[in-house]
Amino acid sequence: MPKLMLVVSAELKNIVILQPEDGSDDEKINYYFKLECEHCGWVCENEAYVSINVKEKPTGNRRNDNLNLSRNMGNMICHGCESHGKISLILGHGAPLSQNHCTEVDLMLFNCDGLLHVEYSFNGGWLAITIHFYKHNFYHFYPHVTSGFSIFFFQTFGQVIHIDFVGREYRNVIDGEEVTITNLEAKFVPKG
Ligand SMILES: [Zn+2]
Repeated sequence: MPKLMLVVSAELKNIVILQPEDGSDDEKINYYFKLECEHCGWVCENEAYVSINVKEKPTGNRRNDNLNLSRNMGNMICHGCESHGKISLILGHGAPLSQNHCTEVDLMLFNCDGLLHVEYSFNGGWLAITIHFYKHNFYHFYPHVTSGFSIFFFQTFGQVIHIDFVGREYRNVIDGEEVTITNLEAKFVPKG
């Protein structure tokens, strides 16, 4: 069964982390895929909305669960040859986008049985955490010091924002800082 990795890249400004709401193993996000039938080559015209059903209940040991579980994304029928296809999310193989990634990130790994992903459409269900900068007046705490740095800039986690990528980008001003997510790209890469 072919495995396909959803590889995503984006330009992040003042964002620490960008990921699906519940991380790379998010089974609640609304996935929109364009799918191709492995048997007859039929490609659905519009993105299909795919929801994942939890096949097995986690045992509580998340690490082991991630190694062993896959989430069933339900059965679909090809409109060309009417054969059945199934897609599942393999847990524990993805990572969020972060400010340290300026290149492509392996976001999610899928198992494809009869149907292959050809396109991923960004939609709702994404979460980002902003970077918050604040100034710290050194002399306020150390008035006896007369030389050296006067102001420090501290960087911390800022706000959690929920994003809908239907417009393919995000622009806002948060705490006086320009926060943008642009140049969103997604592709599927075969994994052995
Ligand atoms: Zn088919």
